[in-house]
Amino acid sequence: MISENVNRVKQAIEKKCLECGRKPEDIKLVAVSKYFGIDAILQVKACGIDNFGENRAQELTLKFDRLGDSVIWHFIGTLQKNKVKYAVRCAEFIHSVDSLDLLYEINKKAESFGKIQKILFEVKTSEEESKSGVNSEEEIFKLAEEAKKLPNIRAIGLMTISPLTEDEKLVRKSFSYLRNLKEMLKRNGYDYLELSMGMTSDFEIAIEEGSTILRIGSAIFGQRDYSKDWRQI
Ligand SMILES: *Cc1c(COP(=O)(O)O)cnc(C)c1O
Repeated sequence: MISENVNRVKQAIEKKCLECGRKPEDIKLVAVSKYFGIDAILQVKACGIDNFGENRAQELTLKFDRLGDSVIWHFIGTLQKNKVKYAVRCAEFIHSVDSLDLLYEINKKAESFGKIQKILFEVKTSEEESKSGVNSEEEIFKLAEEAKKLPNIRAIGLMTISPLTEDEKLVRKSFSYLRNLKEMLKRNGYDYLELSMGMTSDFEIAIEEGSTILRIGSAIFGQRDYSKDWRQI
């Protein structure tokens, strides 16, 4: 049952917050709805969740055209330049900005939609080859500096995906790297508020390490059926 899942996740967040002296209301829960349909999203929404995350521009567009602004959309996947217009049209937050090219394109499309696009920079915090994201401090500073100059961009934080491993130490290292990077940016005048980190398997560690946005999918919706055609939602 979806409502039981949501309650279980909410309780786990509260418990962990209590343990480490944080306030649950300082943490935004984004329900990652990729591969799940409108009915499931509405069930989650009925449990008081307003933020939903999608990782493919076309799937996001399809759901946005059904649900519009009745929920808050987060684009969390790898973004190709030619798909930027879809993400900007639908998403209040884009979590996955990792190049100047993408930044400029988002600014351009945001201008054409007459909106200020909130973005986060995705940072590569592990050695995994498959992971995308900015992978040097120099690069993140360059992005932060450019973002400041772009009128239709508002950079609000950093995002990462932890390495796929059972080794809790490596996961923690990845999250604490992101937190330290945020603090370093702050000392240099880029005062970002948000740390988007923590998924089903590691959100408790992420809370301990300072996460402000959790992106949780399967703990809420159940296992994803990757053979399912997402157009049939
Ligand atoms: C799918 C996805 C999630 C959620 O994953 P779960 O393990 O199901 O919680 C979070 N972040 C990103 C970027 C994703 O693609």
